[in-house]
Amino acid sequence: MSHLTDLTINPRLRAAAEHYAAFMAAVGLPTDTPDTEDTPLRVAKMFAYEFSEAYREHGFKMTMFPYHGDSYVAVHKVPIRTICAHHHLPVMGHIDIVYHPDKKVIGLSKIPRLVRHLSSKPTSQESLTDEIADHLYNFTFSHGIYVKMRATHTCMTVRGVETDGLTTTAAIRGKIDKQECIRLISEGV
Ligand SMILES: [Zn+2]
Repeated sequence: MSHLTDLTINPRLRAAAEHYAAFMAAVGLPTDTPDTEDTPLRVAKMFAYEFSEAYREHGFKMTMFPYHGDSYVAVHKVPIRTICAHHHLPVMGHIDIVYHPDKKVIGLSKIPRLVRHLSSKPTSQESLTDEIADHLYNFTFSHGIYVKMRATHTCMTVRGVETDGLTTTAAIRGKIDKQECIRLISEGV
C-alpha cells in the first residue's frame, strides 16, 4: 500500500507525489510493485527538500577574517553534485576557485558550503559557474575571482548521445591574473 494514503502528509507533497504517480503511469511505468509503490512520494520529497534548497535562505554565516597580505587563495576540487535543469539528471564534478583577497579572507569551509547550497536545485553548469562566481565575488569583497568547473552530465552519458565527456566552464569577476589562476589550479591537481 502506498504511503500516499497517509493523511498526515503535507498537502503540497501529496499533490506532487500524485502528479508524479500520474506521470509514471502516463509514460508506462508501474507504480504498484514493492519497489515502486512509494517512488512518487520519494521523488516528491527529494525535489521538495534536496533539489530546491537553493531557493531557501542558507543557515550559515559567511565568516570573514582580516588579512593584510597580497597572496592569491586557491581552493581545489570542491565537489559539485547537482541536477541539470534540462533533463533533471545528475551532474557531478569539481570546482576550483582562486581569489585575490582585499583586506579580508573568507573562512575556507564556507566555500564548499556555499557551493553545495547553490547547487541544490536544477540548474545548468554555465549558470551555476556564474552564480558561484557572483556570490563569492560579492561576499569576499576581493580584487578578483576565478571559478572553473569540470563536470560529467549523466543526461549525456545515459541518454541522447550516450557518451562520456567532461564539460569545463570558467568565470572571472573583477581584476585577477588569469594565467596565475590557471597555474595555481593545475598545481593543485
Ligand atoms: Zn541535461
